[in-house]
Amino acid sequence: MRLILLLTFVFPFLIGAQNKYPQDYFSNPLDIPLILSGTFAELRSNHFHAGLDIKTQQRVGLKVKAAADGYVSRIKVSHYGYGKALYITHPNGYTTVYAHLQKFAPAIEAYVKKQQYKKESYEVEMFPSAETLPITKGSLIAYSGNSGGSGGPHLHFEIRDNAERPINPMLFGIDIADTKEPYVKSIYAYPLDENSFVNNSHEKQKLRLIPIENGDYVVENIEAFGNIGFGIETNDRQNLAANSNGVYNIRTFFNGNNNFELDFKRFSFAETKHINQLIDYEHYVTKKQRIQKLFKINNPLSIYKEVLNNGILNIEDSTYSVYKIRVADYKNNETWVTLNIKGTKNKALPPLKPKTTPYYIKADQAINLKQQKVTVDFYKGTFYEDFYIDFEVNNDTLKLHENVIPAKKSFKITYDISNYKDPDKSKLYIARLLGYKKYPAYTSTKRKGNLLTATTKYLGTYTLATDTIKPTISPLNFKNGQWLSKYRYLKVKIDDKLSGVSNYRATVNGKWILMEYDYKTKTLTHDFNDGVVTDTKNNLKVIVTDNVGNNSTFEALFYRK
Ligand SMILES: [Zn+2]
Repeated sequence: MRLILLLTFVFPFLIGAQNKYPQDYFSNPLDIPLILSGTFAELRSNHFHAGLDIKTQQRVGLKVKAAADGYVSRIKVSHYGYGKALYITHPNGYTTVYAHLQKFAPAIEAYVKKQQYKKESYEVEMFPSAETLPITKGSLIAYSGNSGGSGGPHLHFEIRDNAERPINPMLFGIDIADTKEPYVKSIYAYPLDENSFVNNSHEKQKLRLIPIENGDYVVENIEAFGNIGFGIETNDRQNLAANSNGVYNIRTFFNGNNNFELDFKRFSFAETKHINQLIDYEHYVTKKQRIQKLFKINNPLSIYKEVLNNGILNIEDSTYSVYKIRVADYKNNETWVTLNIKGTKNKALPPLKPKTTPYYIKADQAINLKQQKVTVDFYKGTFYEDFYIDFEVNNDTLKLHENVIPAKKSFKITYDISNYKDPDKSKLYIARLLGYKKYPAYTSTKRKGNLLTATTKYLGTYTLATDTIKPTISPLNFKNGQWLSKYRYLKVKIDDKLSGVSNYRATVNGKWILMEYDYKTKTLTHDFNDGVVTDTKNNLKVIVTDNVGNNSTFEALFYRK
């Protein structure tokens, strides 16, 4: 009786849950078969990937077509991030996003250029009304590109719900050939408090992973005691591409019971930063490998499901336990990892004594650190966990721990620069020293009188750097005094070695011209088809300003008829 009730009420609900999203509503936005270079929720730096990265045969300029009827609800052109991006809102409430575009379809391109010339800015953002740019399914909306932060030609495609949350597009029936199961690169065990240990150590242990015939793995038996957790480095592979992609679901089982589950169906942009607490952040920063922790400590991410005791295992003395990890891709190809844990209380191992410093960060409290001329302001809730922070100031050098602990909020670093001479003050910026060469990377710096303030999310070593070098500007495809009648584009290279390019402005005979900036190639490009260069004799003037206000002016003559 009870079973029948269960089947009647639960089964239809389960079916409903499977088909919660409309199937076959959205079509492939490209004319070529879907091959991915990136999957939904794939782990990226400081964020989960919000869509699918669709390969475009290493080319730009492929036709991008509307995945369904709707209207252009947002257009954003930015130097970084999504580059040129188009958003279409559909009658069913979902929005599709197309990013890193080369250019828009003619009517949209004209609409965007009008705004760019009006605002005298390449970077623009617009929210057209439903009547302005209506779109029918399959119509040309743009050409694929490599704009913004894209590392190679591809189309970034997203589906968002009406609360702007990206959803895995595969849930809408977008089909990708995938019969290959995920693979596991490494497994780690983490002792999680001062009394716990794994294989006679309080430190994180890399475990020996042994592949078995069917694609699954076993792990060499371990001995442990106390509260421990595991971490996994895993990826998926699809049939038509050799590259690694993110997996869809990870579950763990402790002695046959569900223990922990991560499920990559949907997330919000507000929570995407918490990826740094999901992965072993220190391991990622130091080794560039992303270990996903299969336990949860102070992580507000919504992608956790069915988590028992936060995924933390309590291993008691003289016990034998079996821990299993199941990794699956969207097509439910699965890979299992099995490991046996022997509980052993080792009396020879004394409790771990954490390294202390005079400065203790309590995550739920604001704290202000001050030494000599440097002040650091952490707001309440900047970090996930309490810890002892290294804090030391030596002249202009601030040692603020190491970048091994993730911050979920920005904090402020303030230098008093009153000891500098007045003319030098305006050339100073706060730099984070990166890599072995200690490259002084510009950190967004504001000056108020004798105070320089940088806003950052990264711990590490900072210093005051001076930029007195002006940006460089040079012509790329023409020479001063040249006839350019047959030219479609005018290209100029701009660069600033230290604080970086902050602003650029180009005019021809005093009239502003649109130049598209690609920071990756340091190139400014003007398209003569804009129709704003109409004179025969033309005086081009380009002004570039860096982040501390040094500026350069480049002038050249060219002719056209
Ligand atoms: Zn992408």
